[in-house]
Amino acid sequence: MNLWNSRSQKGITCGDDMLRVGILMIQGGRSEHMEAMMTAADQLGLEVEMRPIRKSTDLEAIDGIIFPGGESTSMKIATQNEGLLEEVFSFIRQTKIPVLSTCAGTILLCQNNLLNATISRNAFGRQIDSFSSPLKVLLPDESIKSVKSQSLGRDHFGHQPLPMWPEAPPESNEFLGIFIRAPRFDDCKAEAVVYLNDEIVGIRDENRLGLTFHPELTQDRRFHRWLIREMEATP
Ligand code: GLN
Repeated sequence: MNLWNSRSQKGITCGDDMLRVGILMIQGGRSEHMEAMMTAADQLGLEVEMRPIRKSTDLEAIDGIIFPGGESTSMKIATQNEGLLEEVFSFIRQTKIPVLSTCAGTILLCQNNLLNATISRNAFGRQIDSFSSPLKVLLPDESIKSVKSQSLGRDHFGHQPLPMWPEAPPESNEFLGIFIRAPRFDDCKAEAVVYLNDEIVGIRDENRLGLTFHPELTQDRRFHRWLIREMEATP
């Protein structure tokens, strides 16, 4: 199995205190989330190991999981023969591990009752109607607090990131929402934690956080740090 570690960027053997983050490797923005997660871990002075989830046996021993955005129909079609999505959903139900989902990932979780909201796909319009806008984040947790901005060196994959929305100052609850052919929540029974004006664009259902935008495409790692803190807090 190909394992990525936040410090070494090499295949490694896990120590027992290592936090292991599963990332669903079906389709969509996967490497961006891996990079975001490793930077978030660096900011917290912790080590995480990224575990690509391609088959059900990859789920073993993970402490949290990321559902990336992309195209939810393609994700369903790509996994239907092996039934991977069903396996992942029942693993989450059984283990109650923390989950962070973005856009298409949030659609899948809502459709499978892992986030208590109904959702409409492509509800802001077509690809050309994609947009970015400042949001308000209401998560009160320590984890979501900003850390001091860091200079943009090369990332864990050796890429030079574009200067996209660095970490907001510590007192700020603003976040840049990047919406790409995004869905909209309709009937939302989960806790609203992110707003675009008056509209809910991020929800929390116990230790699952579902966003309709793409934090991994900014340099602001607050939501990825939230996942790490939840993983630490979950027995
Ligand atoms: N429109 C996509 C879908 O329905 C989601 C888009 C995204 O993840 N950026 O699955």
